[in-house]
Amino acid sequence: MNMIIDVLTLFPDLIDQALAYSIPARAQKAGRIDIRAHQLRTWATDRHGTVDDTPYGGGPGMILRVDVAHAALGALDHGHKAHRIMLSPDGELFDQTMAADFAAKKRLILLCGRYEGFDARIEKYVDQKVSIGSFVLSGGELAALTIIDAVTRLIPGVLGNAESLKEETFEADLTEYPQFTRPEKYKGMTVPDVLLSGHHAEIQKWRDSQRRKLAS
Ligand code: SAM
Repeated sequence: MNMIIDVLTLFPDLIDQALAYSIPARAQKAGRIDIRAHQLRTWATDRHGTVDDTPYGGGPGMILRVDVAHAALGALDHGHKAHRIMLSPDGELFDQTMAADFAAKKRLILLCGRYEGFDARIEKYVDQKVSIGSFVLSGGELAALTIIDAVTRLIPGVLGNAESLKEETFEADLTEYPQFTRPEKYKGMTVPDVLLSGHHAEIQKWRDSQRRKLAS
């Protein structure tokens, strides 16, 4: 069965439009992955589609309601079979290992916050809180898209050439080797001779020597 990713968001168009290009688009067309963006307001309990309210105890901004998010998660994932991820700047830091872990799952749900974030009780209904970096975004959509992009290219059969994954940065805790293409000379900068030599063994040796250990 192909992987399914559900995204819960106040801006489903943002997700759909960003995934209409390049590898995520091709992966969806080829049926390797099914990505569905859902409007969180669908699960609001009033006719105005209210999903947020002011914080108890006072303070700035609006907080996303636990009842709305819980209803959405329950509707999309009855029986809790999906891996539910809440995007949050104070979550576990996303990295290539986490991307590979997610790519091995059958189903993910990505819950995107906005405004001042979520009612803390929503954490009871998710499996993991994930951050894409030590900075604060205006919403979880760009974080969800970052995760989807990194995960999609790890799904078997998505990249035309599986070889391109093998020596990519982060594989075996190494960087990729430097790459060059035409023109051979550009503003006084040349391509290393070995790459023009046609000696495959020498080229491989040079490339291995150029990969750098990543700081752990
Ligand atoms: N008041 C929150 C705080 O100080 O932690 C920030 C809320 S932020 C403006 C709104 C939403 O953007 C969050 O609920 C989360 O979904 C998303 N977000 C912001 N920064 C993020 C990050 N670094 N990684 C993942 N999601 C992030």
